[in-house]
Amino acid sequence: MNLNLHLMIDFREITKTSKLYNFHSHTQFCDGRAAMEQFVVEAVKQGFTDYAFTPHSPIPFASPCNMSTSDVPTYIAEYNRLKSTYGGRINLYLSMEIDYIGKQWGASSEYFQKLPLDFRLSSVHFIPSFADSKEYVDIDGHFDSFRQKMGVYFNNDIESVVRSFYSQSIAMIEAGGFDVIGHFDKIGHNAGHFREGIENEAWYVALVEDTFEAIMDNHLIIEVNTKALKDHRRTFPNKQFYYLLKRYNAPLLINSDAHYPELINAGRIETMEALAENGLYKIV
Ligand SMILES: [Zn+2]
Ligand SMILES: [Zn+2]
Repeated sequence: MNLNLHLMIDFREITKTSKLYNFHSHTQFCDGRAAMEQFVVEAVKQGFTDYAFTPHSPIPFASPCNMSTSDVPTYIAEYNRLKSTYGGRINLYLSMEIDYIGKQWGASSEYFQKLPLDFRLSSVHFIPSFADSKEYVDIDGHFDSFRQKMGVYFNNDIESVVRSFYSQSIAMIEAGGFDVIGHFDKIGHNAGHFREGIENEAWYVALVEDTFEAIMDNHLIIEVNTKALKDHRRTFPNKQFYYLLKRYNAPLLINSDAHYPELINAGRIETMEALAENGLYKIV
């Protein structure tokens, strides 16, 4: 990691408009809805001090949301151009949101370790199908598509899907090679639509606690992802798990996971307030 993400600050000591940062954002190279430069212009306009690009990484099969390996040099060149143009006004960082696709493909793979990234963000969006093909299926999209895939690939067995998501997450954590874990309980959103209240079921809570322990054992930074706050009134991790952040005094990054320039700061203040209500004031 080329930047120090381990300095903790108490956000009560900073004003609501200073020290703005975002370390999780998408671009035209994946499923982001604007060019990288438009995100930088907006970040400078809003007074951000730090901004990182984390396009969805290349993966070993076709996916509409992920960047292709052949685009990586163009992405890096565009980052370097923006850094030389805007570098005096904002600190920019080159990164990726790297998918974990089993032992063969993830942040610890030689390919990602050799890229000149300032830090690595890693997230689970795919789990293997329960059919014989075992092909990896994106379970991160909108609920309508998730519901359809539940029938096609997963025999409508939500409990096994959730268990698979968290076992992929723990395998990813143990494989290592990254600094920040993205939206670590993301499956809770679609699973909660599929079966209301699932996130309060004891076995689910136990899985989240086990995953959290693995994250802490491996000294990872946890992001508090605000992307779904506006439309779905939730963060990742869900508020009900903030007690874990507190219990472990976890290093936190509040990220908007923006796909649109106007959303780069969405949900930050509200999330800081929710964290503060739970006695959490320290962010990295
Ligand atoms: Zn993600
Ligand atoms: Zn993302």
